[in-house]
Amino acid sequence: MSAPSIETIVNLSKRRGFVFPASEIYGGLSSAWDFGPLGVELANNIKNAWWRWLVHERDDIEGIDTCIIQNRLVWKYSGHEATFNDPLVDCRTCKGRFRYDKLHEYHCPRESSTCVGKGKECDLTEPRQFNLMFKTTVGAVSAEDDPSALVYLRPETAQGIFINFKNVLDTTRRKLPFGIAQIGKSFRNEVTPGNFIFRTREFEQMEMEYFCHPKDAAKIHQEWIDAFLQWFKDLGISEKNLKLHEQTPDELAHYAVRCVDILYRFFPERPDEKAQFDELMGIANRTDYDLRQHSKKAVDEHGNRINPDSTEDLSYFDPVTQERFYPYCIEPAAGVNRTVLAVMMDAYSEKMSERGEKRVILKLKASLAPIKVAVLPLAKNKPEIVSMAKAIKKDLMKDFRTVYDDTAGIGKLYARQDEIGTPFCVTVDHQSLEDNAVTVRDRDTWEQDRINVSQLGEYLRKRLKEK
Ligand code: ATP
Repeated sequence: MSAPSIETIVNLSKRRGFVFPASEIYGGLSSAWDFGPLGVELANNIKNAWWRWLVHERDDIEGIDTCIIQNRLVWKYSGHEATFNDPLVDCRTCKGRFRYDKLHEYHCPRESSTCVGKGKECDLTEPRQFNLMFKTTVGAVSAEDDPSALVYLRPETAQGIFINFKNVLDTTRRKLPFGIAQIGKSFRNEVTPGNFIFRTREFEQMEMEYFCHPKDAAKIHQEWIDAFLQWFKDLGISEKNLKLHEQTPDELAHYAVRCVDILYRFFPERPDEKAQFDELMGIANRTDYDLRQHSKKAVDEHGNRINPDSTEDLSYFDPVTQERFYPYCIEPAAGVNRTVLAVMMDAYSEKMSERGEKRVILKLKASLAPIKVAVLPLAKNKPEIVSMAKAIKKDLMKDFRTVYDDTAGIGKLYARQDEIGTPFCVTVDHQSLEDNAVTVRDRDTWEQDRINVSQLGEYLRKRLKEK
């Protein structure tokens, strides 16, 4: 089957409770989305997989959870206050607003389709810089009355890691190389948000800063690019829908010397193959830029202190070589929301039932599936069957996320679970009362096994691990 469009996933998400439009009962809020009961489970499973893989299953990475609102000086010295901008242009004819760097030509992109001006009459303003950070104030004052009250919502989680570098180093007694990982919300007042949860103004990031000696940075950078490409494949995303992109010098952020993006085929319906792919994560070599910028002792090329406001020096002393230096930092930064979207698009499939009806099957890797097992009674008017099914559900839910459902006939119940990616359905029938066995149905093959209830937990544990 050809890949589904984002629109197909939007419909499934709304219908089944993965994602809802935010503030919907008040007409919504542009490009803002809430995770529903299934979406929050899927997102949590992705975040847990990332955290387990980096923080628990390796021995060189620590976790952290820092504030969304930090001292404004963090963003002054990180460079975001001055340079975290998108160049904006307006079309004087259709009043459309666009990102200048995303235009292929210096023409209104609506020209050929909807812009009423058409052709030469469609003229754009000069590009002007628009800072993407959201502003707010701390305390009962406005920024106009007291400019020192101005603060920003963080546009990346990374800075919370850099400013805590010394705290983590001192408390964990780490030696280079080591990393610090963080998952959390970031905010960008995007000029052109859209495409469902692909680009929103509030989103969640999974970021890790891996600190190393400058001479090792290029090699370690490449290792993380390879490792993350494999990680996405291990999440069940097919190789043909993933691609690497080496950022060109004019694409690089102000702090990076090299950045490689992992792209996913988010837009399979676009005729141009290149345009089908867009960024899922970026893996940057940020050099020693950030640690230096936040350090009280660091100086620029003229010998002037870079940061007279900082009270700490974030350099590192190597006890073996007796060398003091600012570590380089490799940053793999992924979006939770874009990973949710990529995983759902990749898992989406359709199959014809025996009755010739189209069935949707979300072939999620079992560890990501919002629900692992659904227990279904074949006859809900038979109290013995219902109570046996409920007892099985109660038992299984200690080990797996399990639900009980008796609100429709068995065919419909199976279809509902297939559509949300539940790997196994357990059906209790009349025979179960006699032989203490149940039917276990596989989401992907629709094959059924008869399993004794005493073996059920063991059987499911094994099968879930394989899926
Ligand atoms: P883009 O070029 O798409 O604007 P970016 O290069 O600015 O993204 P980074 O700063 O590298 O993004 O952020 C790391 C990751 O955070 C991205 O790869 C993406 O998955 C996620 N991300 C960034 N901006 C958004 C957004 N507005 N909405 C959803 N996810 C985002």
